[in-house]
Amino acid sequence: MTVAIVGAGQLGRMLALAGYPLGLEFRFLDRAADTPGGQVAPILTGDFTDRRLLRRLARGAQVVTFDWENVAVEPLRALADRVDFAPPLDALAASQDRLTEKRLFEKLRVPTNRYAAIDSARDLARAFARIGPGVLKTRRLGYDGKGQYRVRRARDLDPAFAALGNVPLIYEEFVPFDAEVSVIGARSARGEIAIYPLNGNVHVDGILRLTRAPWGPPSLARAAARHLRRVLEHFRYRGILTIEFFVRDGRLVANEMAPRVHNSGHWTIEGAETSQFENHLRAILGLPLGRTQARGHAAMVNLIGALPDRAAALGTPGLHWHDYGKAPRPGRKVGHCTLVEATAAARDRRVRALLPRLAPGVRPSFPRVSRFP
Ligand code: AMP
Repeated sequence: MTVAIVGAGQLGRMLALAGYPLGLEFRFLDRAADTPGGQVAPILTGDFTDRRLLRRLARGAQVVTFDWENVAVEPLRALADRVDFAPPLDALAASQDRLTEKRLFEKLRVPTNRYAAIDSARDLARAFARIGPGVLKTRRLGYDGKGQYRVRRARDLDPAFAALGNVPLIYEEFVPFDAEVSVIGARSARGEIAIYPLNGNVHVDGILRLTRAPWGPPSLARAAARHLRRVLEHFRYRGILTIEFFVRDGRLVANEMAPRVHNSGHWTIEGAETSQFENHLRAILGLPLGRTQARGHAAMVNLIGALPDRAAALGTPGLHWHDYGKAPRPGRKVGHCTLVEATAAARDRRVRALLPRLAPGVRPSFPRVSRFP
């Protein structure tokens, strides 16, 4: 049984690595052959909008899935009567536009921050008057904090619009959050749903640096799971879906969703009974979902820019090493490490001690669970 994957980054690579023990085969499509996915499975190279190539990718495959959600949806729709795409293309389309995403959250009663569509400098001035300090973002193709401009006061408006104003934008309220969390879950073709424990995330300069899971009080995890379930059911979703939230005064405020396996779920490889990658494959193939319970208390540290010393990391008891096979480059995610401990306190102690080596120069704050009701 072959699974075809559009995009051959580290997420695609980890999907393939999770699928081999299940007896699955993989085929990728990406713009270049030398990619994390292309190192572990056959790859077609070319444009994501090339229908001929997309048909070749899908030929003989059970299902076509995605490592990257910003693929143009229209060329895919033209093939949808012959090719089984999972997750559904409507979910992909919704997640590609921050404005559509916010409207969807509102429609499904998933709490989110105030926002306004921005097409002109006047729109922005009006939105700032109504919303106050915020973040101006491109509606499309933003990730890892790219395509964003923080607006603190009125004099930031002109530079913000000048920096981003040549594409459709959204202005959203700044949330002075106490913490950031994400919830990840799968829905299968049979309507079965399985949701992982809540992830506590620390970003530096818009990039995820650290995830700890399970994280936060059970009431917060239950609320996040309820919201995720509503979105999964709305789309009659197949696969893994992620929603990222800010936490403010014990309440969730949805930031964005990703119709795919997620960086904040990498800990599930060693830290949960079934990894997010395996459950994505199970879900899109109509197989029973695996259990999502944590096996302990996990911490995942992203390795950004360049890998630290491998021998030293492998010599660290209990540290699981993931090298994505990418060339080093500033700001690039080149790997991650996970450790799993018996208690949350032991995990936090160890990750604090390891961070200077794994993420030099990074001093992420550790929001304390006790701050939440
Ligand atoms: P995003 O690409 O929207 O996930 O943004 C990247 C990161 O920027 C988030 O994880 C937050 O740390 C920060 N950020 C984005 N939007 C806001 C906001 N409205 N209020 C506060 N922080 C934000």
